[in-house]
Amino acid sequence: MTPNPLLIADRLASIRMDLPQEVTLVAVSKTKPVELLAEALDAGQLDLGENRTQEMAQKAAHFDRSDIRWHHIGHLQTNKVKQVVPHAHLIHAVDSRRLLDEIDKRSRNANRNTSVLLQLHIAQETQKHGLDDQGLETLLESLATHPLTNTVVQGLMGMATFTDDTSQVTREFKRLRKQFDALNPGGWTTCSMGMSGDWKIAVDEGSTLVRIGSAIFGER
Ligand SMILES: *Cc1c(COP(=O)(O)O)cnc(C)c1O
Repeated sequence: MTPNPLLIADRLASIRMDLPQEVTLVAVSKTKPVELLAEALDAGQLDLGENRTQEMAQKAAHFDRSDIRWHHIGHLQTNKVKQVVPHAHLIHAVDSRRLLDEIDKRSRNANRNTSVLLQLHIAQETQKHGLDDQGLETLLESLATHPLTNTVVQGLMGMATFTDDTSQVTREFKRLRKQFDALNPGGWTTCSMGMSGDWKIAVDEGSTLVRIGSAIFGER
């Protein structure tokens, strides 16, 4: 499916119409050619999501614009952190202290501050990444005793089970939002949940940022 430019602008407009003003829309442009990203940018969509390090770096270099906010939304490997730090407005799926320490070190070396979200595992599928409740608590405790210098945890991120069972998806988002409220040390701003198939449920359950790909750019 090759969506035409007008379609992308229309789709963005229709999503924005249903999205509360305070909820951030990240247009997930992974695997899509730069021409389609350009159409989204022309429509005023400056938050873009990518899940591959190399692809994000290439697209950032292609556009070379400081007003684009690049979101690294996928699982990130420690050895790729160095490539991501210079471009990332927000790294969404951090799920270990080791990864955080690497992000902090690379940010320090680059003389930058990096914002991140911690990923909580809320889905039933076992293959999805993320911390369990205990892991999240342990990580937050470790941050309290051994703080980071150049990395700011802005909140939580999660992915619901891929299922038509909306009550299950609702339960999973509820759980994420509950942890967000319970653990929020005061400065957290972002509860990142909701994709093309479930973003309306996520917004109802208190999402502050939705990551929408195929509903904007077409199927991958
Ligand atoms: C691909 C992806 C999305 C967007 O998925 P769509 O179903 O195309 O909206 C959102 N979040 C993450 C983490 C992704 O990897």
